[in-house]
Order: sequence, then C-alpha cells, then structure tokens
Amino acid sequence: VRFSEAKLVDSLFDNLRRCGYDRPTPVQKYSIPIVLSGRDLMACAQTGSGKTCAFMVPCLESLLRSGPPKDWNGGSRARPKPMPCGLCLAPTRELAVQIQEESKKFAFDTGIRCCIINGGTDMREQRSELEGGCDVLVATPGRLTDMFERQYLSLGCVQFFILDEADRMLDMGFEPQVRQIVKQTDMGRWSTVRLQSMMFSATFAREVQVMARDFLNDYLFIKV
Ligand code: AMP
Repeated sequence: VRFSEAKLVDSLFDNLRRCGYDRPTPVQKYSIPIVLSGRDLMACAQTGSGKTCAFMVPCLESLLRSGPPKDWNGGSRARPKPMPCGLCLAPTRELAVQIQEESKKFAFDTGIRCCIINGGTDMREQRSELEGGCDVLVATPGRLTDMFERQYLSLGCVQFFILDEADRMLDMGFEPQVRQIVKQTDMGRWSTVRLQSMMFSATFAREVQVMARDFLNDYLFIKV
C-alpha cells in the first residue's frame, strides 16, 4: 500500500512526501480509512509505530475536505475566541511538542494552523499564539484546563478529539482532568458540530477499556 491510494488532498500528500513518508505503517494503513469513514477508533499501538500520522493525517484531510463548521459565518464576524476543530491531548509536555511539530509539517501550506498548550512555558505567549488562529490544538490536560477556565479558548467546535497514550494518561493521574475536558467539550458543543473521537494506547487494560466505553461511540478496535 502507498499513501497515494488514500486520495488525500494534494497539499497534504505533498507534505507526507516531503517528510519522507511513502508507505503507511500498519497503524496508519488501518486508521486512516477508518477515521476518514467517520468512525470512532480505539487503537493499541506502541510509540514509534507512526501513530501521530495515523490520527493527524485523517483529521487534517477531513478538515480540508469539509472546511470550517457550517454556522461559522464564513469568517465575516470576528471569532469571539480561539475555537479549535481538532483537539489532541497528550500526557507529557515532550510528547505534546513532538505531536505539534509533526502536525505542523503535515499541515504546512494547507491553511490549517496547529497550536500547542503545554505546561512549563509562558502562558501569555501560548495565548497570543492561539489568538493568531488555531484549527488544531495539541495540549497537555493540566495547562488546557487552566486556560479553559480562564476562558482563553472555546472547545465548542471540536470535531476531532484524540486521546493519545491513554494508558500513560491514567498512570499519571490525569483522568479527572481528561474527563472534565471531555465533559466541557460536550456541554459547549455547537449543535451543528459532530464529534469524532480516537483513543491510542499501548495497552488495553481494564481502565483504558472503561475510558473507551465512556469517550467513544460505536468504535472500531485495532491492534498492531
Ligand atoms: P510516532 O509513532 O508517531 O512517534 O512516529 C515514529 C517515527 O516514525 C517518527 O519519527 C515518524 O517521523 C516516523 N514515521 C511515521 N510514519 C512513517 C512512515 N509512513 N514512513 C516513514 N517514517 C514514518
């Protein structure tokens, strides 16, 4: 299989080529068509399996195909707040940085802006980055909760929600924050926005299964 078979928009396909990606890894081979078909996904995959591309590329592709949310007034009225369409939660700052850097390469020259919110860095700087426009947000749960509570952003337009390294998220004690973020996203969602969710985890331990049951709808399961 080659990426050319996925019929991605040209800019995204070119970016993959620029990254040196020619053939999808197993997790990419299965997840890209599943996500593009609109289904929720639970994937058991290790770090290094190529999971960043597995979740980010189909999200970017879907966003490029559909454009911004329907009742977003063609940009003619000012956005009240930064409103990402894609949200990826990662358990550590380092992982968030890695995901954000790779996402920026995939989104290069597509018009999609990828931002990051992570702890240990200047919040004002991250806030002004967001205000410059944010379509896809990569975040750690603690700092996102903080900035959300300060009302620096809205999560009402999130169409794609990704929980990366769900097992580590649990190990690090982030479950309450993650649940809170999911709840806020649900409560504030615009009626026209349909949510699609993905979870990635190295293991499918019982606690991960519980989160999958709570966060995903009628999901497909893959293990690579
Ligand atoms: P990840 O599991 O997302 O952290 O990716 C692990 C490494 O594999 C990263 O350095 C990626 O750039 C690389 N990689 C991911 N997918 C591919 C692919 N299809 N072809 C070549 N390299 C890849």
